[in-house]
Amino acid sequence: MFRTLKPFEYFEPKTIKEAVDILSTHDSGTKILAGGVDLVPRLRKRQIHPEYMVNIQQAKEMNGTIEDTAEGLRIGALASLRSIELSPLVHKNYFVLHEAIASIASTQVKTQGTAVGNLCVATPASDVAPALLVLNANFRVVGPSGEKIVPVENFYLGVGKTVLQDNEIIVEILLPKLQPKTGGAFLKLVRTAADIAKVNAAVILTMIDDTCSDVRIAVGSVAPTVLRVKKAEEILKGQKVEPKLIEAAAKTAAEEVKPISDLRSTAEYRRETTLVLVRRTLSAALERAKA
Ligand SMILES: Cc1cc2nc3c(=O)[nH]c(=O)nc-3n(C[C@H](O)[C@H](O)[C@H](O)COP(=O)(O)OP(=O)(O)OC[C@H]3O[C@@H](n4cnc5c(N)ncnc54)[C@H](O)[C@@H]3O)c2cc1C
Repeated sequence: MFRTLKPFEYFEPKTIKEAVDILSTHDSGTKILAGGVDLVPRLRKRQIHPEYMVNIQQAKEMNGTIEDTAEGLRIGALASLRSIELSPLVHKNYFVLHEAIASIASTQVKTQGTAVGNLCVATPASDVAPALLVLNANFRVVGPSGEKIVPVENFYLGVGKTVLQDNEIIVEILLPKLQPKTGGAFLKLVRTAADIAKVNAAVILTMIDDTCSDVRIAVGSVAPTVLRVKKAEEILKGQKVEPKLIEAAAKTAAEEVKPISDLRSTAEYRRETTLVLVRRTLSAALERAKA
């Protein structure tokens, strides 16, 4: 049966404070609109019925600037996926994030959609989230009681669920500087180039001489949220990284995930390919760390 679109009130606040005030004074039927790549199709399919829509693109402190600072990289919340992918700063210093976004096939989606929008959808199949997890990213969030920093590590609660309140807005992504001799890598397995991940994996690995001084491994599409596989990381830390150890870490990672079977894959296949992707991303990150 044809269902008409429920009318909603539309706001274009000129400041972040105004946006937060609107979000705070209207009830939970409010949605924030950034690129609209996720939100608009869901509206059209009548999957969501917001009473209020707050377009944050005109708020003057919101921006899509990508800026190098003494602490690391700041990425404005309105930065499109494509602008991050094409940023020389990201390519040079945070290659794992470049590689993750480059794996998203549709240039149209990347030109219109923001990285923050991608993260807020909170799908475990996000390609951006594993890269940000291994980069130890933080979000600068503004709400009615002011500003706070939220580590991406604490951001996800479940499928479609984050710690953000309805009246909070992410203003920036903050990426800390990486140590010298750090390499990163991202890989994903898909049914077709344009599809979302069956499984994905991201790694950041730092070497001092022949020893792994630090490593972070994150996997996606294999649990309700994107996941750090910390037991696998522990196998490598402080050790000389040899193929046998990489294999042991990859096996442990495959034991740590909690995949489900769905239309894209079976749980068994996801577990097996977690092992393969973690092995390959670790090997690539190691080569890059040594280069
Ligand atoms: C055809 C297609 C293919 C895709 N392929 C991939 C893929 O391969 N890999 C992948 O990872 N993703 C993929 N995506 C997902 C895509 O990357 C996201 O839908 C997009 O980036 C969302 O960003 P947006 O700015 O358009 O968000 P919007 O649709 O505007 O908003 C999405 C959600 O984020 C919230 N939000 C946005 N900005 C903020 C903010 N600053 N503060 C608080 N909340 C905010 C909104 O309230 C809303 O709930 C695909 C999408 C499509 C349509």
